[in-house]
Amino acid sequence: MSLALKSLKKSFAVGFLFCLVLTTAQKKMVVVLDAGHGGSDHGTNRTYSSLGYLAEKDITLAIALRVGRMLEKEKDFKVIYTRKTDFLPSLSERTNLANKSGADLFISIHVNANVRTDPHGTETYVQGPNQNKQNLEVAKTENNVIFLDKNDKQMFSQYDPYSPESLIALRIQQSKYLERSLILGGLVEDHFVNKDNRNSRGVKQQNFHVLRQNAMPSILIETGFLSNYEEAQYLASNRGQKEIAESIYNAIINYKKILDKKNSSSQEINHKSIKAENPLKNSFRIFLTSSSRKMPENDPKLQGLKNILIIREGELYKYYYGETQFASVRDNYLKEAKSAGFKDAFIVGFIPNQKLESGYYTIEVYAGKQKLSNSSYILQTLKKLEKTRRNDGFHYTYGNYPSLEEAIKNQEEISKKGIKNTTLQKVSR
Ligand SMILES: [Zn+2]
Repeated sequence: MSLALKSLKKSFAVGFLFCLVLTTAQKKMVVVLDAGHGGSDHGTNRTYSSLGYLAEKDITLAIALRVGRMLEKEKDFKVIYTRKTDFLPSLSERTNLANKSGADLFISIHVNANVRTDPHGTETYVQGPNQNKQNLEVAKTENNVIFLDKNDKQMFSQYDPYSPESLIALRIQQSKYLERSLILGGLVEDHFVNKDNRNSRGVKQQNFHVLRQNAMPSILIETGFLSNYEEAQYLASNRGQKEIAESIYNAIINYKKILDKKNSSSQEINHKSIKAENPLKNSFRIFLTSSSRKMPENDPKLQGLKNILIIREGELYKYYYGETQFASVRDNYLKEAKSAGFKDAFIVGFIPNQKLESGYYTIEVYAGKQKLSNSSYILQTLKKLEKTRRNDGFHYTYGNYPSLEEAIKNQEEISKKGIKNTTLQKVSR
């Protein structure tokens, strides 16, 4: 190969990766939702006298359809289903559909079972450690996946997938898929734990055919054990399926936000330490800043960061961003905070459900120059408010909670009743 041609090919490879990063920021995110099993393949199943016959294929379909319905309402997403009814697509049909449609994300939904009845909880799988080679083969043959538009196609008409330069490009792409799969997996498990109070068994790596054949970030979610009675009840219930679907949906939305941030700040992903991860014992938030006056959630100083927790301690309001039990997601949150301008942001560990030894949390529901009138909605709705008078006016607080989680939960309850913009306070005795 001539030197000129060689360097030309190198610039194709680099240019191609660059295009990939730019185009994903603009086009819709295509999500393949794969309801596990179907038709004659019932998947795992159990019969309980109180619940009747339960089959994995029905639960996975119900959850996938719910996730899809929510995603379809988002203009930035396109949803593809491997099945929308009770039939059995073959494994290669499932993955071909994903590869040929140029999907950005593949999510396979399953239900677990064990010979014993006590194992319970959720787990999310990403491709196994030895799968890179095989994914690489898929990427090489599935040219559709890497040709993003007509221009790329023209550029790549001379593209030789076996040249060392393009192999390097493809390898980088593979480790990016794995890294992204781990981020999404961490987010899914986080939501199960933090939103739905589920038991997370972690994000794991394993060789699943349905993951192996995909040329895109892919995860397989085991949503719970049908062999455990309580979980079977939950998985079969309307409430359970709704919560699971909402958690998967929220994780996808968060994932896209993280990617968009990455793309716009053109920060590259760190490929060094890619391995499956378990939830950590602590949960983590990112400390952003503190202020003596409360900033509203949409204050421009917060740089559009969502999911902010504000805790008043003494005279200061402290702002925390994100919450996770997964190290990779935590580090991502920190990066996001720093690139949003919080240069001194740092990670704070919280022991889940820790009870304060001295002191408690309470919720400030009102602060203002005027006293609340007895007919005010707040006083009509909440009983046993505590009123204090300070220099700046009257403050009303509600409740006395030993743990942060309880305080947050009650703050959400109050918000559902229409009392918004309240502030958590940590009171030391
Ligand atoms: Zn399954």
